[in-house]
Amino acid sequence: MGFFFILLYVVPLIVALWVFFDSQKHGYTFMQGLLWAIGVFFLLIVFLPLYFYYRNKRKQLVKVPGRAPAPSSAIPCFYCGQPYPGDPKTCPHCGQSLKNQ
Ligand SMILES: [Zn+2]
Repeated sequence: MGFFFILLYVVPLIVALWVFFDSQKHGYTFMQGLLWAIGVFFLLIVFLPLYFYYRNKRKQLVKVPGRAPAPSSAIPCFYCGQPYPGDPKTCPHCGQSLKNQ
């Protein structure tokens, strides 16, 4: 009796609490964390893998914007070789037109 009680209620409750606090650390809203916790409590086998799956997906999405601006920031000028940011009409260093190459 005691063993099954622990298995059915205490373990899911502890895991649900962990999921709730973990979701708050990973940028989920209070309601989202609560829903994940409730799902994990009632259907641990189904919702715990789902939670990890969506959390990892979310991590990958968060990483992408930090990487994006880097490649286009330093293109060397065709005339003077100085790097310039963005896509200007003329070179900010030597004034040559960059559009008629
Ligand atoms: Zn130049």
